[in-house]
Amino acid sequence: MKRILVTGGAGFLGSHLCERLINEGNEVICVDNFFTGNKQNVIHLIGNPYFELVRHDITTPYFAEVDEIYNLACPASPIHYQFNAIKTVKTSVMGAINMLGLAKRVHAKILQASTSEVYGDPEVHPQPESYWGNVNPIGPRSCYDEGKRCAETLFMSYNQQNGVKTKIVRIFNTYGPRMSVNDGRVVSNFVIQALQNQDITIFGDGQQTRSFQYVDDLIEGFIRMMNTPDTVVGPINLGNPVEFTMIELAEKIISLTNSKSTLVHKPLPQDDPTQRKPDITLAKNTLNGWKPKIKLEDGLIPTIEYFKLKLNG
Ligand code: NAD
Ligand code: UDP
Repeated sequence: MKRILVTGGAGFLGSHLCERLINEGNEVICVDNFFTGNKQNVIHLIGNPYFELVRHDITTPYFAEVDEIYNLACPASPIHYQFNAIKTVKTSVMGAINMLGLAKRVHAKILQASTSEVYGDPEVHPQPESYWGNVNPIGPRSCYDEGKRCAETLFMSYNQQNGVKTKIVRIFNTYGPRMSVNDGRVVSNFVIQALQNQDITIFGDGQQTRSFQYVDDLIEGFIRMMNTPDTVVGPINLGNPVEFTMIELAEKIISLTNSKSTLVHKPLPQDDPTQRKPDITLAKNTLNGWKPKIKLEDGLIPTIEYFKLKLNG
């Protein structure tokens, strides 16, 4: 039995990861400051003797004897990470230093949840890991983008300088049950609006693209990455390469929910990337043929069911 620390474990992705790790017979310590996550996401695990929920902020050191660390703590939605930009940088950078220090001390493997945002508004399409990105260092998204870029630097440096077994995955837009109702990201916004027959808020002309990955596909990628030999450090893209415009996403959600909602256009936020799609060749080659299995429609159905239940109390 391995003892595994998941930071941000009460969040959307973290809660699915904790569940999978517990189901596979591991002991899990879930550390979270509940900024965007909540106990409800892991309530079904509480009471399991192998699951421990700890309120802790990773900008301060944390001590535990563990075999593996998944570092997911960081607000991920633009509304949440811009709410307190300085705190977002601290979480990414000081959080990474604290968790890498822990990994170094206890000789644990450590995986960083990085992001496609390191590519900024990409001028190369689709994005391979070799692309260095096009990030505005002082724009509204920079607290997140640059924080995550610096965290990648730290993960590489601890690996090269101190021999820490680090791994970096760059996650592309991922959705599914347990996104928070006030998350503000596009899938949850559109589903909630459609279920309530409210206007669907398209930012800009809606021709910008994203590639949407269902949470289960990502968690499989996480586990496979953690289990790679120590020589595999990454970064490795994890995402679904099927690309949609925001108008196409809205239309799909309206149809799946039989909604009477109509589309309304709102201003495009500053520095909103115009296109995004992962090149997943490296992930396929490195992670035993890993590739996303769940089509957008198939992932939207359980996501819609989840939000139906949430909205009905
Ligand atoms: P989320 O907001 O649901 O989860 C983040 C969790 O981290 C929350 O539970 C929050 O309370 C916790 N947290 C925040 N700051 C903390 C701190 N200082 N100390 C301890 N806990 C803290 O978001 P998510 O979508 O589950 O994202 C999880 C991770 O994956 C993040 O690091 C995010 O950057 C990364 N990521 C997610 C996506 C995606 O599409 N979901 C894409 C790219 C990267
Ligand atoms: N978006 C939108 N309406 C919304 C929320 C988001 O049109 O209510 C757009 C947003 O401008 C962006 C895309 O959807 O182009 C994805 O936004 P999200 O915040 O989900 O993630 P991002 O990939 O931008 O970090």
